[in-house]
Amino acid sequence: MNTKLYRLEVTAPEEDYDRLSGLLTLEVAFGWEEESLPSGETRFRIHCEQEDFLQALLERIREAIPQAVGVCGSIENKDWLGAWREFFTPVPCGTRFVVLPPWLAERAATDFPGRTPIVIEPKSAFGTGHHATTALCLRVISDLLDEGRLAAGQRFLDLGTGTGVLGIGCCLFGLRGRGLDIDPLAVDNALENRALNGIEPATFTLAQGSIDAVREQYDVVLANILARPLTEMAPDIVGACAPGGCLVLSGLLEIQADGVERVYQACGLPAARRLIDGEWCALIWEHVTC
Ligand code: SAM
Repeated sequence: MNTKLYRLEVTAPEEDYDRLSGLLTLEVAFGWEEESLPSGETRFRIHCEQEDFLQALLERIREAIPQAVGVCGSIENKDWLGAWREFFTPVPCGTRFVVLPPWLAERAATDFPGRTPIVIEPKSAFGTGHHATTALCLRVISDLLDEGRLAAGQRFLDLGTGTGVLGIGCCLFGLRGRGLDIDPLAVDNALENRALNGIEPATFTLAQGSIDAVREQYDVVLANILARPLTEMAPDIVGACAPGGCLVLSGLLEIQADGVERVYQACGLPAARRLIDGEWCALIWEHVTC
């Protein structure tokens, strides 16, 4: 175990609470602490063993919320591992999957009979199944497999692959594809998880990058990112869908769904089907025809 634990402390005014906690929900899969200050501000504390992850997170927070005040530091790392592990409970997702960490993998067959385990080593990358945006995508993948819309031999693009959880789920049902992420730490973790799940490198290729690296078209495109990048990348994401293919967008709050859907309709898509979980929404097009 690393002897140092790094801490990012960010204090934000009351009016920025929702934006900052929304950003942390998407960026910090392993959780954080919050403290309400007498001034009305909230102090957020994020602990992690990867200093570069916290530095990058601080830059993202500064870009999104310039008035937030952040500082990175380090503290002595005691035995956090046991407590941290307790957070990573198995998560049944959709009808087909259970996502669980390596130390619980052996229990999958007895505790979750009939479900396909996706083993994820929890690190800083997003995608342990605990967040609704991931669970929604795995539910859609389960449904599309049940309907026969997704089938072995088809090709997928997993844009914003994080831990690789969605691509791994597809590969476990015989699809082949590609995962891309702008975060190099996510790509490292996805490579590790690909191996943990016994998936051949050629079946699920992984690289740092985004939609501009995509030249081919895919039977299914999965993109669990935020509303803004999904909006900016809309023409290219639609262009990455093979005629008649499926497109699944997640990472949107339900209140953002109309706006994102309109942008994709302007790119030639019809109205989307929606799947909601709490405040989160996935948009699904089962037959992309433009
Ligand atoms: N696919 C995983 C899942 O469903 O749990 C992770 C989704 S996580 C919400 C979003 C991921 O997209 C992060 O790993 C982030 O680094 C990545 N990302 C953000 N913007 C991106 C972009 N423009 N292109 C590719 N990846 C991006």
